[in-house]
Amino acid sequence: MDRIRLGNEEFEGRNNAYVLADGDDLALVDTGIATPGVREDLRDGLAERGDAFADVDAIVLTHFHVDHAGLAGEIQAESDATVYVHEADAPLVEGDADAAAAVERRRRELLEEWGVPEDVRTELLEFLEAASHIEGEPADVTPIADGDVLEVGGRRLEAVHAPGHAAGLCCFELDGGREAVVGDALLPVYTPNVGGADVRVDRPLKRYLQTLERLAERDYDRVWPGHRDPIEDPTARAREIVDHHRERAGNVVDVLDEHGPADAWTVSEHLFGDLEGIHILHGPGEAFAHLDHLRHEGAVSLEDGTYRLVTERVSPREIV
Ligand SMILES: [Zn+2]
Ligand SMILES: [Zn+2]
Repeated sequence: MDRIRLGNEEFEGRNNAYVLADGDDLALVDTGIATPGVREDLRDGLAERGDAFADVDAIVLTHFHVDHAGLAGEIQAESDATVYVHEADAPLVEGDADAAAAVERRRRELLEEWGVPEDVRTELLEFLEAASHIEGEPADVTPIADGDVLEVGGRRLEAVHAPGHAAGLCCFELDGGREAVVGDALLPVYTPNVGGADVRVDRPLKRYLQTLERLAERDYDRVWPGHRDPIEDPTARAREIVDHHRERAGNVVDVLDEHGPADAWTVSEHLFGDLEGIHILHGPGEAFAHLDHLRHEGAVSLEDGTYRLVTERVSPREIV
């Protein structure tokens, strides 16, 4: 499996596309964002191998985010490749107008519920509007589900549903073996955003913690993430991210203890300070994911968007 490194000025930094090939049989896992620079990165990376967009037989997407799925429709238009993505994310990759409108509605609803001030909300919506040109062309999609096996590029990929960061995020276990491509389920440096990255996910932190547990149980030797370098000890990394969330849950409890009762935006301000661009969504989203989890575990209550500690002190270790 080859890795092609792609630029990404817009969001989380550089992306990876992975190439699986066996003779003429050519598959990509993820495609990068639909900007001219990234399109060139991907074309150049394929050309170095003697391949072109038109040669691609299959595109496997880890999730719907534009920095992973952006070029899928365009490559499909040139190659007639089959595009695979989890059924939960399929409508968004297909450009289904109702699905996109539902996301937009839910986002507005949540921003209001989180207590994000109106001028900040406007700033975010303007940022998202300005970024809409990088969404890329819709693709015709073949939906997949957990446990499905794809035979592409001479390899056997088993879909491992890994929701949290996105509802349809899937990892792909390679050849039933010891390695997997993991998209944004596990990243080497920072922790994938939950709560804001996909507003459709119900109980986002809980889902993500279950995903980390699942990946730790599979105990891979190495995984290939959607950003940055391969992770050589994925089980340790999964546990580290669980610890990080446990610590963050503790910080959220501390904020409520000192400054509460408070809404998700206020908690976010104490955790992350001033936010710009996509972080206006990700910051309070992350705060919300933790508050929501603490609420379901009985440590905080919620009334009209305001969270309040139920017990004077709770041990986040018992919750996360
Ligand atoms: Zn993502
Ligand atoms: Zn990503």
